[in-house]
Amino acid sequence: MQTTTDVRERLMIRLQHAVRVLRLDRILRVKESTYPFAEYFKGLEKAQTVRKIFGEKTEEVLANLRVGFTWVRSYMWVSGADGHLTISSYYLNNGDKVDIYLDLIHELTHVRQFMEGKELFDANYNYIDRPTELEAYRYAVEEARHLGLSDERICRYLKTEWMSNEDLKRLAKTLGVECVLRSTSLTRV
Ligand SMILES: [Zn+2]
Repeated sequence: MQTTTDVRERLMIRLQHAVRVLRLDRILRVKESTYPFAEYFKGLEKAQTVRKIFGEKTEEVLANLRVGFTWVRSYMWVSGADGHLTISSYYLNNGDKVDIYLDLIHELTHVRQFMEGKELFDANYNYIDRPTELEAYRYAVEEARHLGLSDERICRYLKTEWMSNEDLKRLAKTLGVECVLRSTSLTRV
């Protein structure tokens, strides 16, 4: 659980978050190897939520989407430079499968937003107030409900290292998820 998280991992998560916020990937022009998303993640086109996100273009977008893998112990994110997806290999191998699936739904929303020319990392907004994030979270929560997950489980999904309990409460309220914060155990592994 979270208590075993070492300092180094926390630091990497912070660093990764900073990379996203500051768009260092764009500044440093880091080029990573990418692969066809559809080769790694099959069947997503059948998910009702994914079809809602992309509509008639679902198959086409997923067929063209590229994915890269990183050693950085983080989750996943969409490049603000070219719209490809990057996933932490550690997260993919060790993360909770439901969390990973919901994250994919969340990130696919960002893929569509990127295609529409939207600014994914708009610094004018806090993370939990950013319209692009809220839309992505809404689709993830909708899919979670399809899966029959409880509010408690969805709440656990929503909690990330960089989100304070206050932010989590506010985000959950916006998304219509009942979050009862009982203890410090409410954290994703
Ligand atoms: Zn997001």
